[in-house]
Amino acid sequence: MRVPEIPEEIAPAFRAGDPPAPAPVAARPLIRRSARAGARLADHDAASLAELLRKAGGTASAARAVAGKVVRHAFGAGPGAPAPAWDAPAIAALGVGAWAHEALLALDPGLSLEIAERAPSTDDTLRLVLRARDGALIESVLIPGPARTTLCVSSQVGCARACAFCETGRLGLARQLAAGEIVDQVRIARALAAERGGAPLRNLVFMGMGEPFDNLGEVLKAIRLLTDPRAFRFAPSHVTVSTVGVADKIEPFFREARAELAVSLNAPDDARRQAIMPVNARFPMAALKEALARSLPQGRRVLFEYVLFDGYNDAPEDADLLAAYVAGLRCRVNVIPCNPGPDPALRPPSAERLDAFVARLSGHGVTTLVRRPRGRDVGGACGQLAGIARLRPPSPA
Ligand code: SAH
Repeated sequence: MRVPEIPEEIAPAFRAGDPPAPAPVAARPLIRRSARAGARLADHDAASLAELLRKAGGTASAARAVAGKVVRHAFGAGPGAPAPAWDAPAIAALGVGAWAHEALLALDPGLSLEIAERAPSTDDTLRLVLRARDGALIESVLIPGPARTTLCVSSQVGCARACAFCETGRLGLARQLAAGEIVDQVRIARALAAERGGAPLRNLVFMGMGEPFDNLGEVLKAIRLLTDPRAFRFAPSHVTVSTVGVADKIEPFFREARAELAVSLNAPDDARRQAIMPVNARFPMAALKEALARSLPQGRRVLFEYVLFDGYNDAPEDADLLAAYVAGLRCRVNVIPCNPGPDPALRPPSAERLDAFVARLSGHGVTTLVRRPRGRDVGGACGQLAGIARLRPPSPA
């Protein structure tokens, strides 16, 4: 697949060390309409494609069969393969009857995003700024590892959740991403990963810009196409969706997706969580725990993310509170030293405090992992994604 790229002189450069975006950006709608859903092939999983074909005159079983052939043809080839042909002869060659041609050929198989900027980190992480057809900018981060490469995927343009420590939260929500725009982050990154020659892209984390549970329909559609064995073939266990804690979407998520769930906790009690995560007013920690306990499928576990802020939530007693909170839930806790974000008062703890916190939490029998920052030097680490603000012309002081 050819990855489209705009000429360098059009893409404003962002360099590591540039000052962060100036004032908080109000949640004004930068883009009025979202990309027209359904007009692109990648906006459809096999089920929604079959539904479209049924409306075009096929029987339910014929529509399902054609949809399966089409997703295999369009998305089943590996990352290095040339773009599959998309015209009447190519579709006929799949054994698809003439009745389905018009509806299929009305769908655009091309990419909905182009690369606006590549920001390679010294640690091999690659932050990508991607531009949608309507000019909206989002970011994805490619994170190579020894066995597999991970892509951090965005689910919205901006975010409405306004967490105090997160750059994306400053932007407000501009619009939802269509399923195809989520899938296309993966198509572009998969080709880049192959081109760079590292481990193949096999792991997806919905931890980029946006709150995936505020765009759950499109996120689920994208996940179904990405994990379809005929299409992109990602293992469901290698797809993780991270939520700020929108508790009433947890049950529908587990009902409709086989992917893994991560929940951003970030504080050990309601008062402190509320102060940095507005979502806690609507879904306090008890409600969140209750929804998890009720919805977590047999044999599955949730990953709690806990960002450590120096002197705020990183005391040994906070580890005790956290252990008490997660007790009784099948879970692991991912401890994340905070990256520089919008609030200068929120800083990462020292290595000693981090180690002490982790030891105390593990001492309670909680499976504890530490997430080392990747891509920090290019603003690509957790909580630093703010493509729109970066590429917008500076506002007059
Ligand atoms: N909206 C989703 C996914 C995006 S954030 C969510 O909140 O889970 C992905 C992860 O990055 C979350 O766990 C979030 O708490 C974390 N994060 C946000 N800002 C951060 C920062 N400044 N430093 C470290 N992690 C941060």
